[in-house]
Amino acid sequence: MSPSWDADLLVVGAGPAGVAAAVMASSLRMTCVVVEAEEVGAKLRAIGALENVPGGWSTGAALAEALAGDLARHQELGRVSVLSGRVVRVAGHDDRAEVALDDGRVLTASAAVVATGVTALAPEDAPWVEAGETRWLPPLWWAAAGDLEGRRVVVLGADRPLGTWLRAHPRAKVHFDVLFPEADRYKTDEVAGNPRLGLDIVDRVTIAPVPEGFRISAWRPGGGVHNFVVDTVLGNMGSKPAAVPGLVVGADGYCPPEEQHPRVLVAGDLKGARMQRIAVAMGDGSRAALEPYYRAQPGLG
Ligand SMILES: Cc1cc2nc3c(=O)[nH]c(=O)nc-3n(C[C@H](O)[C@H](O)[C@H](O)COP(=O)(O)OP(=O)(O)OC[C@H]3O[C@@H](n4cnc5c(N)ncnc54)[C@H](O)[C@@H]3O)c2cc1C
Repeated sequence: MSPSWDADLLVVGAGPAGVAAAVMASSLRMTCVVVEAEEVGAKLRAIGALENVPGGWSTGAALAEALAGDLARHQELGRVSVLSGRVVRVAGHDDRAEVALDDGRVLTASAAVVATGVTALAPEDAPWVEAGETRWLPPLWWAAAGDLEGRRVVVLGADRPLGTWLRAHPRAKVHFDVLFPEADRYKTDEVAGNPRLGLDIVDRVTIAPVPEGFRISAWRPGGGVHNFVVDTVLGNMGSKPAAVPGLVVGADGYCPPEEQHPRVLVAGDLKGARMQRIAVAMGDGSRAALEPYYRAQPGLG
């Protein structure tokens, strides 16, 4: 007797990789449960301008809506279900893959595709930042221009989204004080001289919430501390893989697909630091869904 599964395929994360996996699985008449912690295409929605995704997409938000529409169509066909929730554990067993959610639900299927991408570094991940109880900072790349105009804003870290944000909002009347470690200096070439930025190398920064916003203390190389208060602090310190417990994790924190249990397939940005692109993630997701399909075909596995 074949085991009783919740679906043929479980998909963790509804970014471009996860949606491509679900659509491919459904097109092969496999049933599929997608679990997403935020919303379909959550990361894409912050991309103001797109020029490298075939199909004529010019914004990430438009693509995210189209992906949500794809999932909705396959839901109507009765082959895809989308659950809202955070996956806290993935496991591969001889006869099944298992995915546990933060509300206690456990789902099973023949295989699971994990496509949770990367997530913004938190203050505690950056050795040059001391943020006390402030465990999370809103990422710069999520920030709406209208919310920042007229405010005193500090950006921690000079990661690439700085240039992307400025290009995407050419008319935003903002001024960012960007505090970053020496190691980020090479990333500032593309924004050097921008009149909307103050660029400051620091050895160390502390942040403390105060009624007006945040008190910042910035230690400059060679001595000297600059203390000031700002309305808003945004994180731009880089990203880390959103590895789900249960996956095999490499020294760099990413999850190499070839080292996972055969029933657990990793797709998209979670695979490695290189090739982090939407079109690559879509190809990966489609391929991951095809693996269990071919494995189940006599003579093709
Ligand atoms: C500012 C910015 C601009 C970019 N611009 C471009 C560009 O112009 N062109 C390009 O090709 N790429 C661009 N990228 C990269 C692109 O967004 C990624 O390569 C792509 O989104 C990766 O897709 P993915 O499906 O692997 O992961 P993601 O899109 O990150 O999707 C992962 C999904 O998993 C969900 N998730 C995470 N953890 C869990 C969990 N435990 N349980 C359930 N769900 C979970 C997340 O909420 C998310 O929806 C940009 C990225 C950023 C940040």
